[in-house]
Amino acid sequence: MAQPPPDVEDDSCLPEYRHLFHPDLLRDKVAFITGGGSGIGFRIAEIFMRHGCHTVIASRSLPRVSMAAKKLAAATGQRCLPLSMDVRAPPAVMAAVDQALKEFGKIDILINCAAGNFLCPASALSFNAFKTVMDIDTVGTFNVSRVLYEKFFRDHGGVIVNITATLGNRGQVLQVHAGSAKAAMDAMTRHLAVEWGPRNIRVNSLAPGPISGTEGLRRLGGPQASVNTEVLVSPLQRLGNKTEVAHSALYLASPLASYVTGAVLVVDGGAWLTFPNDVRRLANFGSFSAKL
Ligand code: NAP
Repeated sequence: MAQPPPDVEDDSCLPEYRHLFHPDLLRDKVAFITGGGSGIGFRIAEIFMRHGCHTVIASRSLPRVSMAAKKLAAATGQRCLPLSMDVRAPPAVMAAVDQALKEFGKIDILINCAAGNFLCPASALSFNAFKTVMDIDTVGTFNVSRVLYEKFFRDHGGVIVNITATLGNRGQVLQVHAGSAKAAMDAMTRHLAVEWGPRNIRVNSLAPGPISGTEGLRRLGGPQASVNTEVLVSPLQRLGNKTEVAHSALYLASPLASYVTGAVLVVDGGAWLTFPNDVRRLANFGSFSAKL
């Protein structure tokens, strides 16, 4: 009997998912994943590789992506190229995409997952802090998408998945910067889907809800007690896990979604429909001043 694939992180191969791996789904595809060295991006890389894909994982910290690439390649037997790149710097993005194309000869899938976030009331948010989040999330997504379009997708087609959020759907306290940046990314998804569809490029957004074991939840969740209360009022009454987000990215990136473009797939257990918008938390940030 075949051995189950080894876990890379504690919860990466949850038993209920092991029999679902289909190594041909992304056989010999190449995915370029920004923010692929940690959290949700790392799990997307792992799940893609377990489905036959090779990956490029790119973020600012070379030690972080290098260590991640070693783990991913050892666990899956697929190739993973780690690259240092700031999504805000077009020349660095061009150099990274060139290197990836030199290594693999093609790129089939782009996952825009790099992001920055923190909690801060709008009134205390510095001008620079707002701009920094817009620069990483929104401008960074445009930079990488445009470079990949020019260097490969325009002539060969491709798939883009933008990792966004539901913060701006209803407006969320302490999140004007990230909510605005992610809403702009969802708009970009629709614009690019329309402009690039004739080139056989599909562009979709994936909006996760609160996901356990992530930097995002650690930074934004607040005290565990408050997370638990909020989670209990959501329809599925639990946090999501990184594998569930990665499976949704897998769907959007794979031929299973061949007729899906310009869509926002919300992967949050229905949380945005019922989450309380806890305005009392604003009071705790009364004297908070963000400096970035
Ligand atoms: P994470 O582990 O902190 O991932 C963010 C990644 O982005 C890091 O690997 C970071 O690596 C990279 N990054 C940041 N700035 C960058 C830059 N300027 N250039 C290139 N790379 C950069 O966080 P996560 O919680 O897994 O979040 C992943 C994605 O899911 C984000 O887009 C986030 O907004 C979204 N999301 C998460 C949740 C959640 O519950 N966690 C909910 C909704 C949406 P370096 O520091 O090495 O650059």
